Amino acid sequence: MIQIPKPIYERMIEHARQQQPLECCGILGGRGKEVLTLFELPNGEQSPTRYSIPPEEQLKVYEQMEKESLEMIAIYHSHPDTIAFPSVTDVKLAFYPEVASIIISLKEKGNPVMKAFRIGKEAIYLEEIEIVS
Ligand SMILES: [Zn+2]
Repeated sequence: MIQIPKPIYERMIEHARQQQPLECCGILGGRGKEVLTLFELPNGEQSPTRYSIPPEEQLKVYEQMEKESLEMIAIYHSHPDTIAFPSVTDVKLAFYPEVASIIISLKEKGNPVMKAFRIGKEAIYLEEIEIVS
């Protein structure tokens, strides 16, 4: 389970909307199950169907998280036109099975859907998101 404070949850959806029609991406840092910090990052692909986090951006986030004793809890990205489920590319590029993959779908107008997954070699597991205030 992942606990996301409501303001961060809302900011993630806002980020996805702002980047439409392109995919957005970012990293969530925290401790245990609890998300504490949101890092909004540029999509290195500038694509509506793919994303990548530029290595130098990733490094900056790692350094910041280390300074604040935060762990990487999740990597998130948006699906502007498809459902909240990992694409074939997402599965191929999931290098960190211990880090959750959060997908924000904007497919349904006015009804963004956010889901978290653990993408393993053998299977994809749904992970519960709890929004906390
Ligand atoms: Zn995706």
